[in-house]
Amino acid sequence: MKSIISSSGINSDFVNRVAEISGENFFNCYQCGNCSAGCPSVDEMDLMPSQVVRYLQLGLVDEVKNCKSMWVCAACTMCHARCPKGVDISKIMEALRVMRLREVDAQPRVDITDFSKDYLERAPQIAMISGFRKFLPL
Ligand code: SF4
Ligand code: SF4
Repeated sequence: MKSIISSSGINSDFVNRVAEISGENFFNCYQCGNCSAGCPSVDEMDLMPSQVVRYLQLGLVDEVKNCKSMWVCAACTMCHARCPKGVDISKIMEALRVMRLREVDAQPRVDITDFSKDYLERAPQIAMISGFRKFLPL
């Protein structure tokens, strides 16, 4: 796919919003690749964590917005632990998920009434929260 780099992409609302929600400064990244090398989910990603940051630096909005990596990210924070510049990609991935979910629709994706009372009493809370936050209809 041909990617076009432009100042409008770099200064786009999308890129500024990702920075605002995540609280991260992409421009601290100097592309050493330590994050991608330690990411346990990288094999399933279409953009490596370091590529997501690079694409944001370059304002490649469509490529980032439609990447699968944000959904594959396990939020383990290994990337942050390995980053010599302190960039927390888990927060960037979370910002991308939040923005994507808000964009697609504002409706809940999990109907709580689909689950039995017995299951709800046993289900780990974190699993339910994860389902609400990450499940995206195809
Ligand atoms: S480890 Fe940090 S500086 Fe290195 S590529 Fe990843 S985000 Fe950039
Ligand atoms: S938080 Fe996400 S991107 Fe970072 S190392 Fe873990 S799985 Fe990879």
